[in-house]
Amino acid sequence: MINGEKRLKSPIRWAMIGGGRGSQIGYIHRSAALRDNSFQLVAGAFDIDADRGREFGINLRVSAQRCYPDYKTMFEEEKKREDGIEAVSIATPNGTHFSICKAALEAGIHVVCEKPLCFTVEEATIMRELAQKNKLIVGVTYGYSGHQVIHQAKKMIENGELGEIRIVNMMFAHGFHSSAVEEDNPSTKWRVDPKFAGPSYVLGDVGTHPLYLSEVMMPNMKIKNLMCTRQSFVKSRAPLEDNAFVIMNYENGAVGTVWASAVNCGSMHGQKVRVIGSKASLEWWDEQPNQLRFEIQGKPAQILERGMDYLYDDALADDRIGGGHPEGLFEAWSNLYWRFAVAMDAANRNDREFLKDFWYPDINAGFEGVRWIENCVRSADNGSVWVDYE
Ligand code: NAD
Repeated sequence: MINGEKRLKSPIRWAMIGGGRGSQIGYIHRSAALRDNSFQLVAGAFDIDADRGREFGINLRVSAQRCYPDYKTMFEEEKKREDGIEAVSIATPNGTHFSICKAALEAGIHVVCEKPLCFTVEEATIMRELAQKNKLIVGVTYGYSGHQVIHQAKKMIENGELGEIRIVNMMFAHGFHSSAVEEDNPSTKWRVDPKFAGPSYVLGDVGTHPLYLSEVMMPNMKIKNLMCTRQSFVKSRAPLEDNAFVIMNYENGAVGTVWASAVNCGSMHGQKVRVIGSKASLEWWDEQPNQLRFEIQGKPAQILERGMDYLYDDALADDRIGGGHPEGLFEAWSNLYWRFAVAMDAANRNDREFLKDFWYPDINAGFEGVRWIENCVRSADNGSVWVDYE
C-alpha cells in the first residue's frame, strides 16, 4: 500500500522540460511526481516560448531564477549549483526526445521520458548505452501500466490460469481525430507532421500503449514477424497514418493483433487488451481500469476488482485506498513516478541487486516501442508485407 510515508531520505530535485501551459500531458506528470513527495519541482524549461514558460514556472512556485529559457541553459546552470537537479521529465513533442534525453544523460541526470522514446532503434541504442554507462535511470511514461490489475493479469498468466496463450488481441482506437482537428489544435498539429512526430502517428501515439501492457503481462512472448497496414483517412495526414492494423506471430506459436486508430468515431479511448489461452481469457479495458474480466470457457464470466484480497500481492502493492473506491489514471501515473523515484534512489546508492527485480517501465520498454514502430512502418511502406522482427 502506498500511503505517502517517506521512502527516500529526501525528495529528488526534479525539473520538467515541456509540459507547459495548455499542454496535454504536463499536469499529470506534475501531479504524479508530486503526489507522494518523492520529487520536488525545483526548475524547468516548460515551454518552447521562453517568456510563457518562465511565467508558467513562476505560477507553479518554481523560483524565477530557475525557470530557464531552454533545456541546454538549464543543464548548464543547474550543474553549477550544489543543489542542482537530479532528475528531469521530458514532456515535449516526439522529435525533441532524443536530443534532450541524450543531453540529460550526458549531464548525469536521471530521466523520465515520454513515449515514443525517440525515432529510431539506432537512437534508442545510443540512449540505452549512455544510461547504462552513466548508471542512470530512464523511466518511460507508459502510464496505463501503473494500473494494478495489469499486474494481476501478469501473475495469472504466469501461473497458467489461462492455459497456453494462443491469441493477444490489442486495440487503442479513439475517435477524437476523425476530422482534421489539427487545423485548430496545436497538440494535434505536430502529431501528424513527420518532422515532429517521427515515422508514425497512431502506431506510436497510441498503439505502443497496449503493446507495452502485453509485454508487462507476458514478458516471455517474443514477436517473430509481423504485417502492418496503415492509412490516412484524413488525407492531409499522409504519409502519417490515422489508422493502422498489425498482425503478429510470436515465437511460441501464439498470434497477436493491434488496432491503433484516431478515427474510431464515437470511441472515447477504446484501449483494450484481451489475452486468450487454451482454458480461459482475460480482458482489460482502460475505460474501466479497476476491473479485469476473467472468462473460463463454459463458466460465467468473473469481474476481478482492484483492491480485493483475492488478488495476488503484486496487484495490491501499489494500492492507495481499499477496493470499491475507483482509482484512475492519476493514481496509475503516481504509482509509476513513485517507482521511478525508488529506482533513482537505488541507482544513486548503486544498489544493482535491488534494481534487478524492481519493476518500472524502463529504457527497455521505450526501446521496444521504438523497435515495434520501426518494424510496422517497414512492413506497411513495403506494401504491407510480412517482415521478420528485427
Ligand atoms: P503538447 O503539444 O500538448 O505540449 C507540448 C509542450 O512542450 C508545450 O508546452 C510546448 O510549449 C512544450 N515544448 C515544445 N518544444 C519544447 C522545447 N524544445 N523545450 C521546452 N518545451 C517545449 O504535447 P503533449 O500532447 O503534451 O505531448 C507531449 C509528449 O507526451 C509527446 O511525446 C506525446 O507523445 C506524449 N504523450 C504521452 C501520453 C501518455 O499517455 N504517456 C499522453 C499524451 C502525450
